Amino acid sequence: MIKQSFIGLAKPRIEYEVLDAGQPEPQLIQPSEKITLFLKKSPVRNDSILFNVGDKVKTGQKLAYSANPDAYVIATVTGTISSISAFAGDYGKSYTAISVDVDDNEELDDQFAELAADPTLDVAKNFLSGMPGNPSFQAFSEAAESIHTIIICGVDRDLLIATNQYAVKTHIKAIKSGIGILKQITGVDNILIAVPQHLMQDATASGAEVVTVDSAYPATLPQLMMQSLLGQVVPAGQNCEDLGVCFLNAEAVASLGQAFDKGRIPVTKTLTIVNKNGDKSLISAKIGTPISDILNTYGITLHEKDRLIVGGPMTGSAIYSEDYPVQADTDAIIVQDSENLDLVSDYPCINCGDCVRICPANVPINMLVRLLEAGQYEEAADQYDLYSCIDCGLCSYVCVSKMPVFHYIKLAKYELGRMHAAEAMNA
Ligand code: SF4
Ligand code: SF4
Repeated sequence: MIKQSFIGLAKPRIEYEVLDAGQPEPQLIQPSEKITLFLKKSPVRNDSILFNVGDKVKTGQKLAYSANPDAYVIATVTGTISSISAFAGDYGKSYTAISVDVDDNEELDDQFAELAADPTLDVAKNFLSGMPGNPSFQAFSEAAESIHTIIICGVDRDLLIATNQYAVKTHIKAIKSGIGILKQITGVDNILIAVPQHLMQDATASGAEVVTVDSAYPATLPQLMMQSLLGQVVPAGQNCEDLGVCFLNAEAVASLGQAFDKGRIPVTKTLTIVNKNGDKSLISAKIGTPISDILNTYGITLHEKDRLIVGGPMTGSAIYSEDYPVQADTDAIIVQDSENLDLVSDYPCINCGDCVRICPANVPINMLVRLLEAGQYEEAADQYDLYSCIDCGLCSYVCVSKMPVFHYIKLAKYELGRMHAAEAMNA
């Protein structure tokens, strides 16, 4: 819900989704024929893939490269690998797309089950990084000494999304179990759970210290929670982990608890589907399920120029194929009718300053955008504070010229990241 002030200069207040108290169990969407999993392209030149077209896979089986143990995916169904191909994601990121034709009879892989009785950070790193909620254990393995606080997000980062709220509401026992595992494998005792006001009571059952977060966007972004909950400002160019704080989604922590409790890796993601009328439904689907299966279930037909967005309305990305699969961090799928699209334009910046006024990080966007349009990314970072941006997307939302400001920013950060990685490798 958007509350616009009568006073023109005041910022609009955009409220997060509030999970309905009577929310029914999300409808489970089964993949109709096949799933597709994205394996991050290995940076190691001599890697070969440890599986082939025609191989049988079991649910929970790890599919990996030979020389790079960090790059793997977990099969979310039982079936036969039908294709292995290259896939180019946003901003030129490359993946290996593995399609699996689904068998009717499910068989469970037992490699993780044998290790689950003795939870360790290595087991979590080697099997659980692709679980629903997309947990990252890298911060603990690389700087085990430096992480002193874990904040579990029982809030959702974008609008219209209720994945983490749903985890707190319905899987609090699994979250409590996941917190116990986290303490054991990371050695971090200071664990907080951040929730909206209406979930405070539910969250107390997690056993962690409960803190509440404001209901106005973008209060749930990690950099802003660092300020509001811990009183710490994350300097430009650094992240929360550099200050010893790691954020994990409530869905990921619930998955961690379930994985070790049951000896089985969770593979089903909770997400929101928003149809062309703006109606929302909370659903669950196996990671790898093609979006077309979800659209078919809800009777949604895509026409030319309709838009399909993966993620929330502020930070999501448009995709170009219904075959795109649900991934570990897919919290929403939004379908927009071509008739109602808010199109970007090629109008120039008119220097109105609306973006500057709304930016929570005080980035001089009206100046920054000029350099980004010209592809002068290093100058943008040096002169106009590119790295202070916390990726909220509000600048694009308010831009009267309908400039894709946030997309310029994301592209610039990606290109600079690539340049710095290449420099580091050459050095
Ligand atoms: S996305 Fe735009 S409004 Fe949000 S922090 Fe970055 S520059 Fe500021
Ligand atoms: S809101 Fe758009 S037009 Fe206005 S200053 Fe920012 S970039 Fe320029």
